[in-house]
Amino acid sequence: MLPIVALVGRPNVGKSTLFNRLLRKSRSITHDMPGVTRDRIYGECRMGDVRFDLVDTGGMCLESEATPELSKDFEDEIFEQAREAIEEAHAIIFVVDGKEGLTPLDEQAAEYVRRSGKPVLMLVNKVDGDEFAAEMTAEFHSLGLELLPVSAAHGYNLPDVRDRVRRFV
Ligand code: GDP
Ligand code: MG
Repeated sequence: MLPIVALVGRPNVGKSTLFNRLLRKSRSITHDMPGVTRDRIYGECRMGDVRFDLVDTGGMCLESEATPELSKDFEDEIFEQAREAIEEAHAIIFVVDGKEGLTPLDEQAAEYVRRSGKPVLMLVNKVDGDEFAAEMTAEFHSLGLELLPVSAAHGYNLPDVRDRVRRFV
């Protein structure tokens, strides 16, 4: 059984984009795991000599696109997903949206993640280059987590993500 790294964060921040990107680079395959909920997608990642299962807490993004205003039930379900993923994980990649900025849901999720006591790297996604990185990440420092500005879509800082993940798995 490989160590598990979970991608956690509210819908639309770019978790699945990041998942696909990190998997593609490591030439890995997604697979089902027996006895786990089908709402989570697992992919085996190789980063140098380090191997782990990356987990995308998927299945929620389409729904969220259709419902920009999150209902209470929907929020509860996201948190249930995140809670289960965090519980089984060895380490956590917590993703937030640098374009959208810090939201109350991010603050709650960060609290969950912190309380787990597990290694966590916060990625401020949708920072599509160095130019605005400081400005776009500024408010997220208040969450008190180690952070890195990235662009899952354009690849900005993804080599750094790989380096850091390798070290904390
Ligand atoms: P998830 O719900 O957290 O899995 O988010 P998705 O991976 O489905 O991405 C949500 C939206 O954000 C999609 O339209 C992506 O194309 C977009 N997106 C993801 N990463 C980036 C990024 O680095 N920059 C920009 N500008 N958009 C991104
Ligand atoms: Mg997704």
